[in-house]
Amino acid sequence: MNEANNIVSGWMRMAGMSTRRGEIGNLIGRYEGIGEGTLGGKTLVLSSHLDTVRDAGKYDGILGVMVALACVQQLHNRGERPPFSIEVVAFADEEGLRFGTTFLGSSAYAGAFDRKRLDLQDRDGVTLFEAVRAFGGDPFALEVSGRDPTDLVGYCEVHIEQGPVLEDVGLPVGVVTAINGQSRIRVGFRGKPATPGRCRWR
Ligand SMILES: [Zn+2]
Repeated sequence: MNEANNIVSGWMRMAGMSTRRGEIGNLIGRYEGIGEGTLGGKTLVLSSHLDTVRDAGKYDGILGVMVALACVQQLHNRGERPPFSIEVVAFADEEGLRFGTTFLGSSAYAGAFDRKRLDLQDRDGVTLFEAVRAFGGDPFALEVSGRDPTDLVGYCEVHIEQGPVLEDVGLPVGVVTAINGQSRIRVGFRGKPATPGRCRWR
């Protein structure tokens, strides 16, 4: 993640952005707007994630970061400043491969980080608390380091389709106006399997 962040932050700077790193490890590139009018001082967020699950192909997550970067690069090449600022965010560990939890980076960015997650351990016994600290972040600041939503123009993300709908109908792109929230729970069932063929229903 450190290597990926370093490479992408170099590209961000080449596209005229200043870069910083959030406490959880989110990489944030900022392209300043002209700061005038009703949108002056506000920010449009374009983002996705740089990590990915195994065998997810080369477009998952990184496509959204690269498309956002390419858009800003175009503005920078033409010397244009939009009326609002743009932040390109590469979220850290969205897929939860290391700590078995999803949306780590975006939950911290959204101000919805749950401090109980700091006790989670990776397979080597390293806690999230220790990993954040080793990465240069402040674990105690995660809950309060959320992005203030009052100055946002909006949020936009390009992502590959993760189902067959567009492919089935032969459309190259779909535009959605909302996104599903996702919750995961672990459920245990107690009991014993019935012997096949001897199960009676009442
Ligand atoms: Zn993804």
